[in-house]
Amino acid sequence: LEADGGYCQMTANPVVRDGEVEGGVLLFVDVTEQRQNEMLRREFTANVSHELKTPLTSISGFAEIMKDGFVKPQDVPQFAGKIFDESQRLIALVGDIIKISQLDEDMLPYEKEEIDLYELSEQIVSRLQNVAQNKGITMTLTGEPVTVKTVRKIADEVIYNLCDNAIKYNRPDGSVKVSITREDHQVLLKVEDTGIGISPADQRRVFERFYRVDKSHSKQIGGTGLGLSIVKHGAAYLGVKIGLESVLGEGSCFSLSFPDE
Ligand code: ADP
Repeated sequence: LEADGGYCQMTANPVVRDGEVEGGVLLFVDVTEQRQNEMLRREFTANVSHELKTPLTSISGFAEIMKDGFVKPQDVPQFAGKIFDESQRLIALVGDIIKISQLDEDMLPYEKEEIDLYELSEQIVSRLQNVAQNKGITMTLTGEPVTVKTVRKIADEVIYNLCDNAIKYNRPDGSVKVSITREDHQVLLKVEDTGIGISPADQRRVFERFYRVDKSHSKQIGGTGLGLSIVKHGAAYLGVKIGLESVLGEGSCFSLSFPDE
């Protein structure tokens, strides 16, 4: 039964006494979550197949032209370059899909440990410093050492993805500010950028799998459309709340509130 936007599984059984039906027992089980999960999984599989097929088709096409001898020797590096770029895209996609599936399965064997969020962010910022510099973007980190109990690998993934996006969707001379502050019973990590911003309608959707505001722009700069869903899932796994404030054309601020244990 479909009711009020949800799904209910109904089982009906007669109640029989002395061979006569005296009444009935109706059992209603709310299966909304189960149905929604099934639908999401089906949608995900369809999207994954589509996303994988696009670069594979290009790779196969370029390789076929080369195989048949239609490419002049001086153009071979350019074609090989295209095959290389498309396969890099495939590797990034498969990597992200594996991360999402692991988070989905909830079977991560990770244990929480005490980690210094400032030190972790420092490492991430230094890993991304070159990427930022190449685009003329200034990246800074402010705050002080603060310990939280969390899973290092997942927290790293979540913060890295936010910083990576803050660079990718920025303007050429823009900035990315990462800050860590302690507020009552929580540690707040903010990633603030001066980029293209996200409209209120898109803010509701950017955490969906494969959702991109501008599909071609995102693909061109190496986006898989899975970064923010990894952030959403990872944060849920860690018990971290995500916040997003953004003004179109001015910039975005993603925040993570870690429980201060
Ligand atoms: P992608 O791999 O395409 O970057 P994400 O899941 O990380 O995928 O992000 C989804 C979409 O949200 C992006 O395609 C982009 O349109 C938008 N987005 C994410 N982060 C930002 C940001 N800091 N500023 C502006 N837009 C952003």
